[in-house]
Amino acid sequence: MSSPPSALRRLNRQRSRRQKGSRQYRASNEQITRLHRRIRDIRVHHIHNLTTRLAKTHGTIVVEGLDAAGMLCQKELNGARARRRGLADAALAEPRRQLRYKCSWYGSQLIEADRFFPSSKTCHTCGHVQDIGWERSWTCDECRAIHDRDDNAAINLARWPKCQSDDLGGVAAPVKHGAVHKTGPRPAAGVDMRKS
Ligand SMILES: [Zn+2]
Repeated sequence: MSSPPSALRRLNRQRSRRQKGSRQYRASNEQITRLHRRIRDIRVHHIHNLTTRLAKTHGTIVVEGLDAAGMLCQKELNGARARRRGLADAALAEPRRQLRYKCSWYGSQLIEADRFFPSSKTCHTCGHVQDIGWERSWTCDECRAIHDRDDNAAINLARWPKCQSDDLGGVAAPVKHGAVHKTGPRPAAGVDMRKS
């Protein structure tokens, strides 16, 4: 079976060949609606799984304020189309929203790094900052260290709270988010939720 996104493209093509208003056209429409719903359900499920696992198993989580709008604008670069597709799809704000409340459920701390922190293009070995474009892997001009883009960014983000306290001489404070909602983790699906 093809993956839901490619199945969706196939169904869209199929519908475009059918005559508007015909029985077959309506059947295509219905299939497309169902598939959209299924894709949404799969995504919701995976994001919840991921954020629950992260919040349960990590004492401190640092997230980056990804400048999604800026990334979507880099049209002329290689892979830009795939990136636009992926990002437009990814519901970037949702995992962070979930982490905000789940971290408080499970007693872990969520730290949100500044969205202008150059996590990808700062060499984690020597601290040199350089322009790296969209390369997956890059070499530091100063110390010649070779970095994987995401691994390097992850290391810099992991150090983020410490960087802040070093630079500012203060303690990195976790981001505060309005009122504390009196919610707690719900039992897993399938568990009988009626009051006993
Ligand atoms: Zn370096």
